[in-house]
Amino acid sequence: MHSHDYARTDEQIAEWVRTMDELGIEKTVILAHCHGKEFDAVLARYRKFPGRFSIWCGFDYTDYDKPGYGPAAVAELERCCKAGAEGVGELGDKGKGMFYCKPPAWGMHFDDPRMDPLLEKCGQLGMPISIHVADPMWMYEPMDQFNDGLMNAYKWRLDNQSNILSHAELLGTLERAVKKHPRTVFVACHLANCSYDLAKVGALLDKYPNLYADISARYAETAAIPRAAAKFYQQYQDRLVYGTDMGRGKQMYLTTFRILETEDEHFYDWDLSTYHWPLNGFGLSDVVLRKVYAENARKILKR
Ligand SMILES: [Zn+2]
Repeated sequence: MHSHDYARTDEQIAEWVRTMDELGIEKTVILAHCHGKEFDAVLARYRKFPGRFSIWCGFDYTDYDKPGYGPAAVAELERCCKAGAEGVGELGDKGKGMFYCKPPAWGMHFDDPRMDPLLEKCGQLGMPISIHVADPMWMYEPMDQFNDGLMNAYKWRLDNQSNILSHAELLGTLERAVKKHPRTVFVACHLANCSYDLAKVGALLDKYPNLYADISARYAETAAIPRAAAKFYQQYQDRLVYGTDMGRGKQMYLTTFRILETEDEHFYDWDLSTYHWPLNGFGLSDVVLRKVYAENARKILKR
């Protein structure tokens, strides 16, 4: 449920499909987060492998800061949907506005009234929305000896930015949008960036049945707390979806399976994580795995 346009040629896509076949991956969601001709080109490339990819588009924020913004963006969304977009995403806001798109919409957050017509239309069209809000907590914290994720956080740091919402404020923007559009299905990327405190995303899942969370690119963070993570998966087994967001290499997939499926302890995969701590498996049950790998995604993808 969380991949990107990593394959640039037909041969690379064919290679990706071979990896998927080898590993038992039925379908990959490509979060293309673009619109217009760029989106059409992505769609055309992956269409050559019918049924194996679900291509999602982005919103068009052109002139979002001028009066009258809305109808043209909604029309473009409808056009993408008709062309074959099955969802929208990955939208993204780390605190300065929606920016996973061309052009970015600096200063416009997910709960901004200008977003409403688009979020509502997605519900009408049966298009789920994949949204990345915030980033791991330590990107927002001081870069000192108390920063738990410093070895990663320093590269992605946000603590030195001005005009930026805090982690809690960003979660607020997500919550208000999800609450306001109950007929639209939302997938919060990367466990809503709450790997530092999974109870926070759990509380949102408890409150809003139209919200799911993808587990992509937060394996290394949660593999440090395998028992708490396993309990979280058990509790929210109907609301979590498998995703990767880390290229299309076979070893990458195998490490994600190892973390979810096994009870292996203290292992490393330096391609997957640059944190200094080791990874540990969650040992999830087959029932939970089936839901997280496939059944929950099928519910979301069913228009
Ligand atoms: Zn992504």
